[in-house]
Amino acid sequence: MILIFFGAPGSGKGTQSKIIAKKLGIYHLSTGEILREAVKDKTQVGLEAKQYMDRGDLVPDEVIIRVIAEKVLKGDIKNGYILDGFPRTLAQAKSLDRMYQNASIEIDRVIYLEVQRDKLINRLSGRRVCALCGEEYHLDFKAPKEEGVCDIDQSELIQRSDDHVAEIRTRLENYKDQTEPLVKYYQDQELLVRVDAEGQIETVSKRIFEVI
Ligand code: AMP
Repeated sequence: MILIFFGAPGSGKGTQSKIIAKKLGIYHLSTGEILREAVKDKTQVGLEAKQYMDRGDLVPDEVIIRVIAEKVLKGDIKNGYILDGFPRTLAQAKSLDRMYQNASIEIDRVIYLEVQRDKLINRLSGRRVCALCGEEYHLDFKAPKEEGVCDIDQSELIQRSDDHVAEIRTRLENYKDQTEPLVKYYQDQELLVRVDAEGQIETVSKRIFEVI
């Protein structure tokens, strides 16, 4: 099964795709996570991507397409994964379609997580992430047991550099200009399924399950 989780920054793509991938026993491919790892490891891709990510801008299409092409066509994951955070531009979507056509792979569904804009800012600015394992928390909705400390490995919780207000605004503007047009693209292909992504994490997971 190949699913794309689509939505604005803060719509819960990462949280929900982790939960659903685990339940379905398929892989979770997050381009944001792949890029953050690359930045941490100072690889060529990481060095190219960092400046864009720090500002809240999208990484150039050719960089991210190269990254994703290596992953999605690999034998071991080819038949089951959730794409989280890709595609984010029309050029990326078209390039993914070409890759899939050449490999006779089909997208099953594009899950569109819908959240009102004012809620997105609150969700993103309250997010905290474990510096070691990457587990995500939220100051209001998913607070750690001890303030500033990861429940899993007791490491420090940090705020992502692109979760500060100025960068959040840039990300939301980029989403509107560059990513939102994909709603129509996937609607026209009859792949898009809208899910109300407001409310408790478990409630949203249930809604997603119902449409898969
Ligand atoms: P995310 O974790 O999905 O919020 O992604 C974090 C950042 O990684 C984004 O703000 C972009 O700078 C970059 N990024 C992730 N996925 C893509 C993509 N498909 N195209 C361009 N940039 C991306």
